[in-house]
Amino acid sequence: MTKSSKKQVASICLLLVSSVCLQVLAQDWSFSSYPVQGNVYMLEPANTMGNVGVFVGDDGVLLVDSHFSFSVAELLGEIRKISDKEVRFLVNTHVHPDHISGNGVLADYGVTVIAHDDVRLRMLSELRIPRRGGVFRPKPEANALPVITYSDALTFHLNGEEVRVFHAPPAHTGGDSFVYFVGSDVLHLGDVFRTRRYPIIDHYNGGSFLGMIDAMELAIDLAGPNTKVIPGHGTAFSDREGMKQYHQLLTTLRDRVQGFIDQGGSLDAMLAEQLTGDLDSDWGDDPGWTATDLLPIIYQELSE
Ligand SMILES: [Zn+2]
Repeated sequence: MTKSSKKQVASICLLLVSSVCLQVLAQDWSFSSYPVQGNVYMLEPANTMGNVGVFVGDDGVLLVDSHFSFSVAELLGEIRKISDKEVRFLVNTHVHPDHISGNGVLADYGVTVIAHDDVRLRMLSELRIPRRGGVFRPKPEANALPVITYSDALTFHLNGEEVRVFHAPPAHTGGDSFVYFVGSDVLHLGDVFRTRRYPIIDHYNGGSFLGMIDAMELAIDLAGPNTKVIPGHGTAFSDREGMKQYHQLLTTLRDRVQGFIDQGGSLDAMLAEQLTGDLDSDWGDDPGWTATDLLPIIYQELSE
């Protein structure tokens, strides 16, 4: 966070003493950048919230996701190490705050914000997000809203290659976008794909566990042996093999929960069973979202 951003937050905190302010000041808002492949880079935030995709070339810079308003100065500073071209476009993969909250500041710099129709619609009101019990986030400012939305697919012709943005089946949310950089052969899957973490299904915002299996099958079919994949969160980019392992996790969870339902087991009995005991060491890397959060959602969906 820059000195002026810190001053801004500190002065607001003097008026509104809150734990949120203290959390903002205490956070490390810096990024590390990694070349993924071709013209695509991944900026990984130190606070592990929301990886940002960066596509560079002679025509300008396209971003995938905007992280938080407080970190835009750090974000732009890191981008400047990669490219001195204008940041022209921003695609939001979905509506969660760690992927859209930098929109307004970037829009004020002249960046055009693009998202699926569903994202803009949900940004018009207060947002409930799937942390335990459902946490509410205020409605974003008007300048943060996407100015271009799409329903099925959208293609950029930029920096000498095609960038295909398309609507994934309902998965993490109902408005997930996948972004495929065709020439560079890089996929950005937003939060549909998390390495070493159980999938978050945001049932407040149209997400679906079974849809997530379909979405990953779509991504795996699209990928070739050399495709690199940027996850919404996670310390490293992945590939088709990584997506197959994740898909295997999803189908294993589906089959185990279905087996329990078929035997007439209740949700409470299933949760007492330690159904994922052998999987937690590989996939339980997020203390804020464990198998205990995910299994009831799968149970509910398979019981419908
Ligand atoms: Zn998310």
